[in-house]
Formats: sequence, C-alpha cells, structure tokens
Amino acid sequence: MKVLVLNCGSSSIKYQFIDTTEKFALAKGVVERIGMSSAVLSHNRHDGDGIKIVGEILDHTIAIEYVLGVMLSKNHGVIDDKDDIEAVGHRVVHGGETFSGSVLITDEVIQGLQDNIELAPLHNPPNLKGIQAVKRILPGTPQVAVFDTAFHTQMPAKAFLYGIPYELYKKYKIRRYGFHGTSHLYVSRKAAEILGKNIEDLKIITAHLGNGCSMAAVKNGKSVDTTMGFTPLEGLLMGTRSGDMDPWLILYIMGKEGLSLNEANTLLNKHSGLIGISGESSDMREIVAAMNEGHKRSKYAFDIFTYRVKKYLGAYAAAMGGLDAFVFTGGIGENSAEVRAEICKDLEFMGIELDEERNKNKEELISKDSSRIPVLRIPTNEELVIAMDTSQIVEEIKVHN
Ligand code: ADP
Repeated sequence: MKVLVLNCGSSSIKYQFIDTTEKFALAKGVVERIGMSSAVLSHNRHDGDGIKIVGEILDHTIAIEYVLGVMLSKNHGVIDDKDDIEAVGHRVVHGGETFSGSVLITDEVIQGLQDNIELAPLHNPPNLKGIQAVKRILPGTPQVAVFDTAFHTQMPAKAFLYGIPYELYKKYKIRRYGFHGTSHLYVSRKAAEILGKNIEDLKIITAHLGNGCSMAAVKNGKSVDTTMGFTPLEGLLMGTRSGDMDPWLILYIMGKEGLSLNEANTLLNKHSGLIGISGESSDMREIVAAMNEGHKRSKYAFDIFTYRVKKYLGAYAAAMGGLDAFVFTGGIGENSAEVRAEICKDLEFMGIELDEERNKNKEELISKDSSRIPVLRIPTNEELVIAMDTSQIVEEIKVHN
C-alpha cells in the first residue's frame, strides 16, 4: 500500500510517501514557516531529485495542497493521480488514556482528539489541523492516527502514577503518559530481530536521544516505564528542556524572578537543558566541540546529559530485574560516539562493554563480543511504523467491508 505519512507541527509539516510492501520511502519532504509569506517546501524524491519552493503558505490546508502539487508534478512527482495515495497516516502526539493503539480516523476519533487537547496544547491542535485539511482535500481517502503515547499505555500503575493526591489523577488525568512511543517500539523490535530472539523473551532499554530525549524499559515487548511523563519535559536532560528536577524549584524560581506561568514554561522548555547549562548551544555537536576546546559549561552540559542516561539505565535494569540489550537511537544516539562512550563507561560490572572501534565506525552492534549485554545503535524510523500501522488498519477495514 502507498501511504502518505504526515507529522503536522504548529508551523511545519514533515511528510513521507511510503510504499509499505517494499518498506521504502518514495519521497520525503518538509514544509516550514507555515503561516508566513516566505514559507519553504523542500521535497526529495528517492532517486536523489530534489526541489525547494518558496511561497506564501498561510495554513495547513494550503501546505498539504502544495505537497500534493509537488507529488503530482511532472518533473519531481511520484504519483500520477491523487488516488494513488491509498491512505494517510498521521503522527498524533497525545492519545491520553483514550487511545491505546492506532485508529482509523472517524468523527468520533476527532472528538476524542479534541477532548485531549488540554493534555498537549502545543501538539494536538496542529495534528488536528492536518487531519481536517486532508479530509477536505482527499475526502475519500482513509486516515489513521498513530499516537506517540500508545506504546506506553500498558505501563503498570506504579510506573504511571505520581506521588500526589490520587483525586488529581481522577480529576485531571494527571499521570505519566510517555512519548516517542513509535520510536521505542520500532527500535526495540528491530533489536530483537537483529539479535535473532523473540521480543517476548527480552528485557530491553531504549534511549531515544534527539532534540527531545527519552528512555523506555521494554519488557517482553511492552513499555513498562519511560522517562517522559505528563508532558515531554520530564526525565533526561534535553537540548532546551530541563528534565527531572525538584518540583519546588519551579515555584521558587517563579517567586524569585517574578515569572508568570507562561514565562516559567518558556524557561523550562526553551531555555534549559544543554543550552541553559552551556550558554553555548542546544546542539550536541556544538557542545562536544566546545567541550573539547576547554569550555567548562559545555563540559557540565555533556556530563549532566550522559550521567542522567546512565542513571536511568541502572534504574530500568533494576526495575525489569535484568537486561538483555541496550539500544541507542535519535539524532544524538545514532551519531555521537562521544555520548555513547561516556554513557557506557565503567559499566563492565553490569555486563556492558563498549567496543571503541565499532562505536566510532557507527556499526549496528557497538559492544564487544565479550559484552554480556549487547549494545546496539539503531536508526529510528517512526514514519515506517506509522505507514505500516496505517496500511494494516486500512486493510483490515477492507476485509470487514
Ligand atoms: P528530533 O528530536 O527533533 O527528531 P533528531 O533526532 O534529529 O531531532 O536529533 C537532533 C539532534 O541530534 C541535534 O540537535 C544534534 O544535537 C544531534 N546530532 C545530530 N548529528 C549529530 C552528531 N554527528 N553528533 C552529535 N549530535 C548530533
């Protein structure tokens, strides 16, 4: 099946057109600066052909019309007719407790997504805009929602409840949800495949380290704990987000600095993490470069970042009662040999021995043959998971009709 995968943000739409039989992306692209007169569409076809278009793209509907235009174009296109898009799969950030798996989008599902807006005020509204736009432009094409939170919905209560009055969970649905679910799912399954083992028999820890960072404890193929929480702010240190801290700090800082709720939100989500500590950059490449030139605050940022991953690695191995594989993914996890080496340093006691050469050469297996626990570097592919789920759901519906 040929599926258009859409990841709609507030001012950008990332897309991939995937052939699910071949598990292959025929085209990929991104529309940026939606809402501005100088929006940019970058489109790349699988054969290396690419095009950039600058124009006025005022909303998500126009952006998706541009994407279809370039997909249909004689010189850069990949389809002859709109109907060649057999289904559309959307990345939806927050499914709350309503959605524990991918679903065909109906009016009832759209209502469910609207009900969850409060849980993800920045992310769910643009996801909904994309869904509504496709409904208008491709009215007969089935659409599927794939949730970032779905993989974590089977966590036990001891992992998802916070130490606050239980009534608040009931009243406001305050609990750990976790994110990056499609990525943790994809790389944990891929790890089992690489190791030639059944995922049902494995305890895997996955570290998705990108702009946003999270880890998951995946036991017998299910996420039993994860570092992100009610929002994607909790857990690991990230490019611009603080991750874990004493909750009282927020109130203390707000009082001391006279910050409003909005300003506190910006401080913790946009000005903290690597950028906040280093004062240099939110990009790990620049942090490592500055650290190597002796920049002290960049070294702190690097150390805090890697130390926290190490701590959760120990915590999750204990939580699962063992460990069979440790996986790195995401922009930093896939590309930074320095970060992987620092995280895995001095872990021989728990059976982790990184192989320096394999790590530098970005191999799939980066631990030594003598390492009791294999350490893997697996490029994530969330779009493929979305496309596969979409095609499966649409096929099932065809069978039932
Ligand atoms: P997102 O979370 O937005 O999907 P990515 O997973 O693409 O982001 O990760 C982006 C981050 O990956 C960048 O901010 C950068 O810090 C990091 N990164 C990319 N390449 C490298 C590299 N060679 N070395 C270290 N970090 C890298």
